[in-house]
Amino acid sequence: MCIFCKIVNGEIPAYKVYEDSDFLAFLDISQATIGHVLVIPKVHRETIVDLEEENKIFAVVIKLAKAIKTLPQVEGINILSNNGPVAGQTINHFHIHIIPRYIDDQMQIKFSENKLSPEKLTLLSNQIKKKSSV
Ligand code: 5GP
Ligand code: ZN
Repeated sequence: MCIFCKIVNGEIPAYKVYEDSDFLAFLDISQATIGHVLVIPKVHRETIVDLEEENKIFAVVIKLAKAIKTLPQVEGINILSNNGPVAGQTINHFHIHIIPRYIDDQMQIKFSENKLSPEKLTLLSNQIKKKSSV
């Protein structure tokens, strides 16, 4: 059983901040910044593509983001989810990081830049559109 399933069933402890019948949220053990929270579905699902589109996890993320935004000195929030080892996922139970941001905190998220041609961008947008439209 994965470590997050063990947190869900109480086998290992966690500092819980929210719980309902479907979701659990608790402090990340590593606290990338102060107040770093993880939100998970109680059922074991490996990545975001294993969830139903109707999944309500983002309602919980929004609720918690609103709560975290009221903590002292919180100026912003990063919402992050690593899906797959290549994306940096280390626990294979889907989770969303809520990471409060403070002036001059040491947290770093860096996007690389790829300058694509208009043709390539058109092709790419069409490929995704075709797969996502109902
Ligand atoms: P990932 O790298 O998969 O996106 O994030 C996994 C997160 O789970 C990491 O930020 C790590 O600190 C956190 N984590 C790993 N083991 C535990 C644990 O036993 N308890 C808690 N609360 N967090 C954990
Ligand atoms: Zn699990």
